[in-house]
Amino acid sequence: MNAEWNSMSQTAEYEVVVVGGGIAGSFAAATAAAEGAEVVQLERKPRERGGYIACGDAMKSPEDPKKYPGPIDMGEICADESVLVDGEIDQIEWWDHELDERTVLPYADHSNVIDRYEFGQHLLDQVADLGADQHFNTVVQGVIQNGQVSGVEASRDGDPVTYEAEVVVDGAGAQSILQDMISFEELSAVEEVSFEQPHYTHFGSAYREVVETEEPVEFSNAIVGKPLEQLGYVWYFPRTPTRINVGLGFQMSQQPVPLADRLGRDMNAEPALPDAQVAERFGSPNKLGSSIALRRPLDSMVAPGYLAAGGAAATTHPISGKGIRGAAISGYSAGVHAARAVHAGDTSEASLWGHNHYQFVQHGEAGKLASRDAYNIAASSQSIDVLRAVAALLPQEEIKSIVGTKSKIDGLGDLASVVIGAAKNFLGHYREGSFEHLGVSNRNLYEVFEGVWTARSYSNKYETHYEAYPETRGGFSLWRDDRDQLDEAYYDSLELDTADRKY
Ligand SMILES: Cc1cc2nc3c(=O)[nH]c(=O)nc-3n(C[C@H](O)[C@H](O)[C@H](O)COP(=O)(O)OP(=O)(O)OC[C@H]3O[C@@H](n4cnc5c(N)ncnc54)[C@H](O)[C@@H]3O)c2cc1C
Repeated sequence: MNAEWNSMSQTAEYEVVVVGGGIAGSFAAATAAAEGAEVVQLERKPRERGGYIACGDAMKSPEDPKKYPGPIDMGEICADESVLVDGEIDQIEWWDHELDERTVLPYADHSNVIDRYEFGQHLLDQVADLGADQHFNTVVQGVIQNGQVSGVEASRDGDPVTYEAEVVVDGAGAQSILQDMISFEELSAVEEVSFEQPHYTHFGSAYREVVETEEPVEFSNAIVGKPLEQLGYVWYFPRTPTRINVGLGFQMSQQPVPLADRLGRDMNAEPALPDAQVAERFGSPNKLGSSIALRRPLDSMVAPGYLAAGGAAATTHPISGKGIRGAAISGYSAGVHAARAVHAGDTSEASLWGHNHYQFVQHGEAGKLASRDAYNIAASSQSIDVLRAVAALLPQEEIKSIVGTKSKIDGLGDLASVVIGAAKNFLGHYREGSFEHLGVSNRNLYEVFEGVWTARSYSNKYETHYEAYPETRGGFSLWRDDRDQLDEAYYDSLELDTADRKY
């Protein structure tokens, strides 16, 4: 144990307290410990259930150190066959049975559908090996603050424990309870506390089951998406040819969908998934649900004595399979900057600012996610039937760029091919009258194409703006005001009503 423990008052003192035993919490705890800080990681689940988390489990390039930075040895994790890093996934498929559409896109560098539980167990082992204490069965129920966030109150194996800390890292996932408990406006900071508290409509709800089939499925090398009546999709992600992660998610700003029922109806009607039965884990059906962040990364992820990472900081983009990676990068950053601030003896907002700057500029992943959010906003302004029609119309190159299998298509040649490709597809569908029963008019389609052009242009503007994210706290308010103006100009160009303006 590397902290001071007072058994009379049930109080433990650490330099860094990390809440959460998921991806962000594990990368943060491992990194801060490797940087020489006294760290404890708190997780509400028991040790043997660590890593048992609702996820589609799609994970690209797990051994790329840019996507998984820091002291966690991803090579060691990927070498264990039970984690299922095999690179077998080499295409993305979009099935819209009603429109008789099956779009197939090659996945250039191959991908994986991992066993998230096995992966999480390895992560927790490495956190311990790197020198952090770990307290499982420990539910954080309160926050201590006195100008700074200075610890948490928890129930450990049912007994109350106070954890005092110089820095608290929030890796408690999307809709973190810590953010409800902290009074950010009462923390002391020059100007105001910069931390951005997200709105509930910025989250989605997602649910998944792991099912088994008797015969191998014919899409075992593909991750498959299918339309949902609300903005969102149903997925079939095969871990192995007979073990499939199936799930669905929707945005909380839309009408709620009864997730388990809707998934059951989908699977019962799906000929490519015959006789699927839910697998068991821990003696129960392997079914899990959770919330997901469906917004750009928080404008600022720091407050005095406090850093947020992963789902808690919205640095994750689950829709395009960047949820695990985004949590790892921001967890690493939180660990580095928490340890540095502790060593400097200054855990003010200004001292922790490097956590924001690293992600938006030095690493840059958070800036890219923020700029791509322009596409989510454009899509949210359209009805789902119009989007289905567009998915059928868009040429594959354009879809590839939107879903991120290809980092960029920008040149004039590419743009011309998009227009020509869409026009060709449009003619085909027009002759067949494919979209009439969806109630989608040519005018609707034209508006979406216009929206995609606008989104592309604003996505570039956002990217430039996030590349100029301020290096110090001082420049933040001005930067945010300019970004807010960019938001307004974008909403105006999409002719969004006030109620539909996301931020
Ligand atoms: C259904 C679903 C499908 C997804 N599919 C994909 C996908 O295919 N690919 C992808 O890359 N991403 C996907 N994501 C997103 C991805 O799972 C998340 O981005 C990622 O798990 C975020 O990691 P995290 O560490 O921030 O949070 P989490 O993984 O949620 O971990 C948070 C941890 O904190 C613990 N905790 C919470 N509150 C407390 C408390 N009060 N006290 C103590 N401990 C607490 C929790 O028990 C948990 O272990 C999906 C998400 C969902 C919900």
